[in-house]
Order: sequence, then C-alpha cells, then structure tokens
Amino acid sequence: MPPRPRLQLLGSRIALMPSLWAWPLVLSVLLVAGVMVWLHAKEVADREAQRADLISDSLSLEAQITSRLDDETAKLRALANEIEAKSLSADVFARHALVLDGLRRFWVSVTWLGDDGRIMAHVPEDTVPAHDVTRNIDEASMAGHLSVSLSGKDDHPGGMLVARYSAGALLRQKVPWWLASKYDIRLVDESDEVIASTVDGPRRPTQAWYRVSMTPSMPNAWLELSSRERITPWWRTMPMALMGGFVMLLGVASFMLRKQMHSVSRAEEAWRTEAAWRSAMEDSLAVGIRARDMQGRLVYVNKTMADMVGYQPDELIGLMPPMPYWVPQELEQSMSRHLRNMAGQAPREGYESRWQHRDGSVVEVMVFEAPLVDAKGQQIGWMASILNITERKRMEERERKQLETMAHHARLTMLGEVASTLAHELNQPLSAIASYNAGLLNALGERPDIDPQIIKAMQRMGEQASHAGRIVKRIREFLTRREPQREPCAIQGVIESGVSLLKRDLSRHHVHVDIRCDAHLPKVVADPVLIEQVVVNLVRNACDALSAQPGERRIVVGAGQAGGFVRVTVTDNGPGLKGQSSQRLFAPFFSTKSDGMGMGLAICRSIVELHYGVLDADEAPEGGALFSFSLPVSQEELT
Ligand code: ADP
Repeated sequence: MPPRPRLQLLGSRIALMPSLWAWPLVLSVLLVAGVMVWLHAKEVADREAQRADLISDSLSLEAQITSRLDDETAKLRALANEIEAKSLSADVFARHALVLDGLRRFWVSVTWLGDDGRIMAHVPEDTVPAHDVTRNIDEASMAGHLSVSLSGKDDHPGGMLVARYSAGALLRQKVPWWLASKYDIRLVDESDEVIASTVDGPRRPTQAWYRVSMTPSMPNAWLELSSRERITPWWRTMPMALMGGFVMLLGVASFMLRKQMHSVSRAEEAWRTEAAWRSAMEDSLAVGIRARDMQGRLVYVNKTMADMVGYQPDELIGLMPPMPYWVPQELEQSMSRHLRNMAGQAPREGYESRWQHRDGSVVEVMVFEAPLVDAKGQQIGWMASILNITERKRMEERERKQLETMAHHARLTMLGEVASTLAHELNQPLSAIASYNAGLLNALGERPDIDPQIIKAMQRMGEQASHAGRIVKRIREFLTRREPQREPCAIQGVIESGVSLLKRDLSRHHVHVDIRCDAHLPKVVADPVLIEQVVVNLVRNACDALSAQPGERRIVVGAGQAGGFVRVTVTDNGPGLKGQSSQRLFAPFFSTKSDGMGMGLAICRSIVELHYGVLDADEAPEGGALFSFSLPVSQEELT
C-alpha cells in the first residue's frame, strides 16, 4: 500500500510534559545524594576501624616496651646485687659483663653512686656528668633512665645504680617494622615535648593519634601512635569528583534539553494553533476540498465536501473509484473523467460535473483540480476544490426560461405593433384605392363604349379594396382593443426585476447600473409585465449605446414622484441622441443599429401611453441620453 499523505494529523495529540527535561537531573541528583551518604558512612566506619587498630596497637606496643624496660631493670638489679655482695669493685665495674652488655644494647651510660651521692664509678668515662647525674639524666630529653637502690649497712642507704638509656634506640629496637611503617611513633613527656620519635617533625593535625601512659616504667612519659594512613574525607574522594563532574555535565545537558524542549513546545503550540486554524477554516469554507493520492484513493475531504454528498468525512476517506456519489447512470463517463484527471489532463479552468447526494438528489459541481505536492516538492496526489453550483444552475435555468418567455412576449408585442402600424399605414392607401376606384367607376359607368367586363373587374377591385380595408380595420380594432392588466404595483420592484434580467448582458459589456429610487415611493397603476418590458428596452438601448464606448460605462435608473405621477428615468453616459428628435426616435422602424428593427422605442411609447403616461427622450445634462416615462400613482395612495 503506498504511503498516504499525512493530512489527518489534526486529531492526534502528542503531549510534551513541560518538566520532562528535569527528570534526568533530579534522578542523578538523587543518585549523587545516595553516593554521598554511602561515602560518608564509609568514612565514619573507616575512622572507627582505624581508631580501634590504633588503640590496640598502642596498648600492645606499650606492653612490649614496658616489658623490655622491666627486663633491663632486672639486669641492673643483678648488677646491683653483685655490688651489694662486694663481688664487684669500682675498678672492675666498667669491665663487668652486665655493664658492657647493657651498653651494647641501648644503655647510654651506667653510674654507680655511693651512699653519700658521690660517683663511685661511671661508664663510659667520657659521658661523666659534671654535677648531679640524676638531674642531668632528666634534662636529656632524648634519654630515660633506670635506677635501682643499693642496700647499705645497718639499714643505711647504700647508694644507687643509674643506667641512662636512649629512648630513641629503645624505640628502634622494640618497634617492629610493620608498625613503624603504619604509624609515626613518639614518646612524649607531660608538656608534649618529644622524647623520642621514629620520624622527624611534628604530628600533622589531620593524623589520627592515640596516647598511652608509660608510667610507671617511664614516669611522666606517653607513648603516642599517629596513623600514617590518611583517611580522605568523603567529599574529597574520587567518586565525589566524578559525581560532581557528572552532575555538572548533566546540568548542562538538562539546560540544553530544556531549551530544546521549550523550542519544541513553542513549535508544537504554533503547529497546534495553525492546525486548529486550518481545520476551522477548512470546515467553515463554502468550498469543498478533496485530496486523493496518485491512485485516486480519497485521503482527505473537508466537511463541506462531505456534506455536499451527504456522507461523513470518515465514510469517504480511503475510498477508491467508483465513488458512492457518482451518478449510477453516468458511471462510465465519471470513470473516464477520473482517469483523465489522474493523468493530469484536468482542465485548468475547472470542469463541471454531476454527483449524486446520498438522498438521491443530483448535485451540480464545479471542480478545480491541482497537483498535491509534499514538503520535498514531490507530487503525492491531487487536490481539488469543489463548488456546489446546483443552485446557480437552477437560477440560470429559471432566468433562461424567463428570458425566453419575455422574448416571446416581446416578439408578440412587436408583431402586434407591426401589424397595428401596418394596418394604420395600409388603411390610407386602401381607402385611396377604394375612392379612386369608385370615382373611376362613376366616370366610366356613363360611357357606353366601355366593355362591361372592365367595369365588372373594376367593381371587383373596389370590392377587394374595401374587403382589404375591412380586414385591416378589423386587425386594428383587435389590436387596439387589447387592454393591459393594470394593478397597483411598486415601481422599484419592477425596475429591479427588469435590470436583473439584463444582468448577464450588462456584466459582459462591463456596464454598471445604479438604481436610485426615492424612499416611500407610492405605488403606480400598471401592468408590471409590460412596464418591465419598457425598463428592459430602455436599459438595453443604453447598454447598446455604451458598449462601443471606452472608459466608464454607467446607467442610472431612478424613480421619483412628480405630482400624480411617478417618473422613471434611465440615464446613461453614452454618446447621447446626437440631435435626433424624440419624434424620430420613437417612429416605427427607425434604427441606427445594423441589426436593429427600430420598433423598441415605438413599442415603449405605445405601452406607456396605454398606461396614460408619457415617454420622453432628451440629452442628459452630463452628456449621454436621458429617457423617461411617467405612470399614474395608484388612487389608493392618493386618498
Ligand atoms: P433599435 O434598438 O432596434 O435600434 P429602438 O427603437 O429601440 O430600435 O431605438 C431606435 C434608435 O434610437 C436606436 O437605433 C438608437 O439610434 C437610438 N437610441 C435609443 N436609445 C438610445 C440611447 N440610450 N442613446 C443613444 N441613442 C439611442
């Protein structure tokens, strides 16, 4: 099936939701919000896990260091025991295995203080403190000390053993590598001073940290672990950056979509308005519209066209010839006309056709065919506008009949007038023949030499002449006895109907007729048929006089009351009477036209005179001719 031209779109509605463009953006914002919540929750969970690790690692390291320091203290105690047992003198103190071992580990120095506070021995010698060893040891921020008391005699204090050790070396030895790679580990004192550290530099504010007190193994010292692993805030993560970019792109895309949708909506609105206008116009047209595809299938009809043939548009659309509105008796003719149209041979000026209404009545139409072209300029069918001319045809027929009747009437009147004129004209010569004949008979009757046959013939001739005279007289009597059917009538109606009979002639010669009747004109006593004939004669004469003239062609038919009469004037702007008297113009058989009979004005005069009026002809004041006649006003109007 070939594609049908899309002319039936008017009913379908494609609704565009005005907020449709925002949906992708809203959904993506929701998605992003979901991701944000998830990232935030993940960050909180990570921080908690990190803190839990931090606490457990700190406690475990603190336990290890404490245990180590306890071991060192035990070794120092063993040294002290030897001193107490007098098995160790100050001289060999520096070479004692426990002292050397301690120094190899992380002791910095070992000092033996006597019961009076004097230094009994100090190893290594180059680190001997100048004054108070204990204080010096405390002052050294990088070092701690272990001390054990020596018992003296009789419960006197016997001095003490002090081992200074490097807190840094302790950390280095005690902290496993994996812990050092995970945390920055520091030993700090009460005032946050760093005693020892696995890293240089202070703790960063963003680092998670935890402190455990080293008391009592290291009084006033704290072990601090700060995590090297940095938990990025959720809003600075890669997914957030990607999401941000995604939302921005989507925002731009939504904005463009919105613009696009606005312009589409505007175009749709304009299309809808235009479609509504078009359908309103098509339905209110007095002209039927029909579109057919290249195969002749009806693809569109407007309401006027459907009404013309008594169907609904839906019943007709899609039909192929023969159409249901073709006259059944003329199917063959209609089909050949259809084929001619499909071949593009339809007359450009249109053609007349006869269709049949659903109720059986015949519809006369005038069809104008034109190619139907789509937006690409390709012909997709045929478009026709159809005028219903049934009424016009009927009027024309009526008019034609009326004109025929009038012409017949005019011919009869003319015949009567010709006969009457002939009778009048013949009466005199016949009377003269009869008188001459009688005179001749009288003169010859007294002479005996005249052949009685001649006398007889002359008598016969006289008889025939009087017979002819009688016939002529009878004809005249018959014609003059004819009385018009007078009745009160409105002269304006008579004028209008007379002028309308000449409509075609007037428009063919481009003559404009103006009817100017006074308001409230009284009725006249007249035979409307005969007076109409007078109006027709005068207007036709004026039209004939104008037809050869260039420029404006105008006839004014006026009517006004003048005393007991109504005066009707027919004025034209033609060549005028050229000095010819009305007597001459009204004479029977006077004509200046090649095909004229010269009886028109004579008949007009007879008719007007039969109505007791007067026909007149004159030059018009503004040039042209002025014919006028008067008719008596009806008695009813006068009283
Ligand atoms: P016909 O029309 O057959 O010639 P008419 O009796 O109607 O006979 O007219 C007689 C003549 O009067 C016309 O031939 C024409 O010369 C002249 N005539 C009539 N009406 C006019 C007019 N309006 N203007 C000029 N001449 C006119």
